[in-house]
Amino acid sequence: MQLDFSKTALIEVDIQNDFCPAYTGKDGKERPAGSLSVIHGDAVIAPLNELAETLSKKGCKVLASQDWHPANHISFAASHKERKIGDIILLQVSEKAIASFYEKYPDLKNPVPAVIQQILWPVHCVQNTKGAAFHDSLKTEYIDFVFRKGFRKNIDSYSTFFENDRCTPTDLHGYLKKLSVDTLIIGGLATDYCVFYSVMDSLRLGYKTLVLSDAVAGVDLPIGSVNNAIKTMKDAGAVFVSSKDIK
Ligand SMILES: [Zn+2]
Repeated sequence: MQLDFSKTALIEVDIQNDFCPAYTGKDGKERPAGSLSVIHGDAVIAPLNELAETLSKKGCKVLASQDWHPANHISFAASHKERKIGDIILLQVSEKAIASFYEKYPDLKNPVPAVIQQILWPVHCVQNTKGAAFHDSLKTEYIDFVFRKGFRKNIDSYSTFFENDRCTPTDLHGYLKKLSVDTLIIGGLATDYCVFYSVMDSLRLGYKTLVLSDAVAGVDLPIGSVNNAIKTMKDAGAVFVSSKDIK
């Protein structure tokens, strides 16, 4: 697949220890499996490294996102009394945030919900911990910019573009606009959460969006969510492509 790499960015989503299985670190120490370890999550790293090296030499920007929570984040089951992992809580979206979104993006489809469902997760990716660090195998030397998300205590952020209220933006869209980027290649973790929401936002913001079929892996909680996510992304216009087919 031929692309204009001066207008393309690769986004490596959440390649962090807490989303990966156990491994031996570069310092020779054992890293336990992450608290939200994705089965074969580390298998996405080799194709992403290879692609990042190839594309950065062609002028393509390489970006990485990092889930980056305060210790008492609202998405952690441990932050709520009498709640367990997998429970769903309802969160009200602020009217101010919704109004500001529609003012800024009058043409965007997909209405912003007034209430969002938040799944409660194990404690993961706490700021400045080993769990939040990039996996040792990720070649960070090719990354031009790191976007952190989920750092506000009272709201989670799966997407690299908007927080989970679907209307509070991160800085990513503005950054890409300044670079005249119109095409995004997205891979990483997890297919059914942070990759999924990033892809759906990329499409609704009008980017041509490619998903790396050999460089994504999912949580599949609840069961079936990976297949649902893939179908929804394809139906919305995402193109699934192997990293080897991008030249
Ligand atoms: Zn998180």
